[in-house]
Amino acid sequence: MKVLIDPGHGGKDPGAVNGDLHEADIVLKIAKKVVNKLSQYDNVQTKLSRSTDVFLELKERTDIANSWGADVLISIHINSATNKNANGIETLIYTNGSNESLVIASSVQSQLIREANRNNRGVKKANFHMLRESKMPACLVECGFISNAIESSLMKTDKFLEQCANAIVKGIVEVYKLNLKKEVVKVANRPLTDREKEIQAEAMELGITDGKNPFEPVDRFYLWSAMIPLAKRVRALEEKKK
Ligand SMILES: [Zn+2]
Repeated sequence: MKVLIDPGHGGKDPGAVNGDLHEADIVLKIAKKVVNKLSQYDNVQTKLSRSTDVFLELKERTDIANSWGADVLISIHINSATNKNANGIETLIYTNGSNESLVIASSVQSQLIREANRNNRGVKKANFHMLRESKMPACLVECGFISNAIESSLMKTDKFLEQCANAIVKGIVEVYKLNLKKEVVKVANRPLTDREKEIQAEAMELGITDGKNPFEPVDRFYLWSAMIPLAKRVRALEEKKK
């Protein structure tokens, strides 16, 4: 499946600002973490609408998602309000959003609340370009208020950005039933060092191995069969002591 991650704003448009803290920078960091984390899952391709601090029109962003044929679009933003007390996290879908959009939004929203432990402002509806002009299920997350002292200080910490990214990933993983990639075991292919050659020769001399495929991982039967003669000898020695 294809996941389009859209970090809002960028370039000449910093988004919401509080001191030297810019929405555009925060959401880019979260978005990159999301893409990184999603790469650990099977059957998922990701694309960022922007990966640097550049300005993109909203239409360019939905054009990227639509022409790529994304299966889901997540736009990442930070909220701001004149009321400095306003706080919490919310997720938006289009006014006439599809049921799939509601499902992904609800999943991401509940994970965000669980991970970041902020006030739950719920899933809301809005007539936003990103949600209206994208052809796939889409939602827009507002990861807290930059205008709120507590939340803006959280946004300066990597921990909070990690929590937001983890939550977005968990939301996607939950809805689309993604599985972690199985570790691909890489078998080294290089000449043995002198020390490794000594170990190999000694192990062969002791009958532990035939010395072939030195970098191949062993299964448990191999380990047991190598350990049994040793364990027998230890037991025999202990019997003698009695
Ligand atoms: Zn924004």
